[in-house]
Order: sequence, then C-alpha cells, then structure tokens
Amino acid sequence: MRSPELGDMPADEFRRYGYQIVDTIADYFENIYTRPVLSQAEPDWLRSNLPSEPPQQGEEFGGVLADVDRLIMPAVTHWNHPSFHGLFSTSTSSVGVFGEMFAAAFDMKAMLWRTAPASTELEDVVLDWLRQMMGLPEYFEGIIYDTASVSTMHAIAAARERANVRVRDEGLSGRPDVPLMRVYCSEHVHSSIDKACITLGLGIRSVRKIECNDRFEMRPEMLAEAIEDDISAGYLPICVIPTVGTTSTSSVDPVDAVADIAEKYGLWLHVDTAYAGSTAILPEFRHYFKGWERADSIVVNPHKWLFTPFDLSVLYCRELDELKRAFSLVAEYLKTTDEAGVKNGMDYGIQLGRRFRALKLWFVIRYFGVEGLQARLREHCRLARLFGAWVDESEQWELLAPVPFALVCFRARPGGLPETAVNELNERIMNEINASGDAYLSHTKLSGRYTIRLSVGSIRVELRHLEKVWRHLNESLNRRSYE
Ligand SMILES: *Cc1c(COP(=O)(O)O)cnc(C)c1O
Repeated sequence: MRSPELGDMPADEFRRYGYQIVDTIADYFENIYTRPVLSQAEPDWLRSNLPSEPPQQGEEFGGVLADVDRLIMPAVTHWNHPSFHGLFSTSTSSVGVFGEMFAAAFDMKAMLWRTAPASTELEDVVLDWLRQMMGLPEYFEGIIYDTASVSTMHAIAAARERANVRVRDEGLSGRPDVPLMRVYCSEHVHSSIDKACITLGLGIRSVRKIECNDRFEMRPEMLAEAIEDDISAGYLPICVIPTVGTTSTSSVDPVDAVADIAEKYGLWLHVDTAYAGSTAILPEFRHYFKGWERADSIVVNPHKWLFTPFDLSVLYCRELDELKRAFSLVAEYLKTTDEAGVKNGMDYGIQLGRRFRALKLWFVIRYFGVEGLQARLREHCRLARLFGAWVDESEQWELLAPVPFALVCFRARPGGLPETAVNELNERIMNEINASGDAYLSHTKLSGRYTIRLSVGSIRVELRHLEKVWRHLNESLNRRSYE
C-alpha cells in the first residue's frame, strides 16, 4: 500500500483532472478568437497577484487549475489566435499538444540510444520523412535541437572545427596563433548568428555583414569582395550563411551563387531557413531554395510554420559526423560496450539529455499528411498575396518589399502627407490595432521607413481574419486623416 504522504497523484485524480484539462484546451482552441491577441495585462500584474512564498502543504489541484483561468490566462499572449500576424505567425495544432503530453509522460532523456531508443530512432525516421518532403538529397541527415539559434550555433561550431585551428582541444583564449575568424551573412540576417558567434568565443567582430540589393537579398559580388579583403588582411574565413526567408522581409539570398563562392574558398555553407524552409514541401516554391543541396548544414523550424508546438528546430547536415567531431565526449559512466553502431544523441551537441521532440512532429505529419500540410501552407501564401494585392491596389497604402512567402511588408502612404510624418503615422496605426487586442502586427525599419509586417501562418487563419485587419487598418488611417 502506498502511504498517502508519499508517491504521485493517485491515478483516479489524474484521470479526473486530465479529462478536465483536455476539455479546457478544446474550449480554448474553439473560442480563442474571442480573446485579445496580445495580453492586456500590465507589467507586474501577475507577479503582484501571486504569493511570494511557496505553499508548505500541498494544495487541492482544482484550486491550482482555477488559478490558470484567473491569473495565467489574462497574462497569455495568444500565439494560436488567428489574428496573430506579428513577428512570424506560428501556431500549434491539437495533435502537437498530444505529442507534448506523451513526451512529458515518458520523460525520456535521449543521451544514449539505450536511455531512449524510441526517441533516438523516431527522430531519424521522422527527419528523413521531412527531408523527403522538402526535396533534399539523401545525404542530408538531421538532428533536432530546441531552436534555430541553437541549431545555427552548432553549425558554426562545426565550421570552426573544420577550419583546423584545434579549438575543441586548445580553445581560443591565450592563443596568438589564431587569426580573426570570419562568418559572412547579409545585413538582414537574424540576430542568432551574432549570438552564436558571441557564445563560441569568435566575438561579434567576426560577423561580417554583406550589403543587400534593393530587394534585401545578399549581393554575391560583395561577398566575394569581402572574403578577398579579409584574406589579404590575414583573417580566416570559415563560414557563410545565406538566408532563405529573412526575418525582416522574408527576402531570399541567392543560395546557388553564394554556394559557388563558399566552394571556391572552402567555407562551410550554412543555410538559415528557419521560417521559410517549410515551404520547400511545395514543389512550386523549390526555386527559392536552389543551391541548398550544396550546403554543409541547413536549419529549418517545424515549430515555426509546420504546426508543431514550440520547440522543435532541425539541423540537417551533409556530414553529421562533423558535428560529432566537434562535440563527442564520452564520460566513463556513459561508456557502453554493447549496441555497437547505434546513434547516441548526446554526441551531437552541448546537451546531454535531449527531449523526445520527434513524437509531436510524427503526429503532425501523420495526422495531416504531406498533402494536408501542403494545402495549408499554400492557403497561407495565397492569403498573404491577396492582402498584398489589396495594399498594392489602394491609393493610401504601399508595399515595401516583395511577398515571396506569406509575409507582407507595407505602410500607409496617404497623399499630401509629408514623408517626415509618415513614420509616426504608421507607428500610431500599428500601436492602436495592437492595443485593441483585435490583431497583432509587428514592424521593421527598411531604409529608414517604418514598415508594418503582417505574417500569415496560423493553422486557424481564414480570409475573414485578413479582411478584419484590413478594415481596421483603413479605419485607423481614416480616423487619423481627420485629426
Ligand atoms: C525565427 C528565426 C530564427 C530564430 O529562431 P529560434 O528558433 O527562435 O531561435 C533564426 N533565423 C531565422 C531566419 C528566423 O526566421
């Protein structure tokens, strides 16, 4: 008999609350459109409503659940809301939630194959499915990390290892024999590249940002020039990172031309397609990725635009063993003599234990099928282009960047208003919509212009949601014109 003071929650209690939670989440998804997209809570509201000390005695779980509704929910920004158009619109599917439930229940830590055979092998299988879906050649093998930031950091670590300066063993500090290493990317690259270089001891100084054309795409001739420049200065180029789908505008660097240059100088080619990579499952979008089959590594985030709950980022490598060379380190208590030839997740990165993330992606791919996923992405891209056409055809608005995927960059530009007042006008329009809770938009600055970004990517988004935000934008603009 279990002592009532010890052990876990009794099974009947788990069942009761478990059913209640599934009901709550189902209602949440069903009625999410009634909630404000951005949390309307003020800073510190939640903190000031919570006891500052932990309970000494366990509490009735029903009361804890009631607090989720009363205290947590008001401080939630609803990424699953169909009118979440800010940053990149990302959302989970319901089956993705099931994946997280099982992963938490099994609570496996995939270090060695034997500590998590299902996780280790399912990861290989599901990443090979995704590879086929995206039309990548068979020599690419994937590994799952939490985020693209971490995937990219591992790629640059492998590039640094390949550069043959023995950083793994000797480090970088106290070494006058190591030249300044260089990592190249466009000026529109994601900040995760800079952060990876900070973490890896290369420093921000090692990141060289290459000029873009007026479509915000890296100019390969400027890249070649920069590399020549650096070589004659005695620096050591190690890696070049083109982006397919940049964060500001979703622009596409010319991967094939960049690959020619990487090849010429023997640099590691890492393709950052954390956001747009999902569209490679659509044959009619493959042209954006031309040349990525020549990469050493590619990062794509199913947690961004493949309806898989955060977090799940995939790093595909041409030679997964190069990652292993950079990171494998086997402590005595982890040495195994049996199971020769099995893959041990811990060999491919800085983490020892790894979450069972493959399960939720497996659920998503099986539930929707390749065709179901393709249909959803196609619809998002269609809706974004439609919105782009509304902007383009309007006298009062203008597009500020091409729309290759499902992100629209635009601004209000009413006739008669001096250019100096346009930035403030757009900032006020966006802030007004965000404060209303009806939709969430975010912004960027392009050549000094305040640019509103509208991303379409929620599994729950429909035409009417875009019509709603378009109506709001116009109402807000017209109100301002009368001021
Ligand atoms: C979102 C994004 C990232 C960062 O993704 P995380 O998974 O949050 O680290 C990196 N690069 C690009 C191009 C992105 O769109």
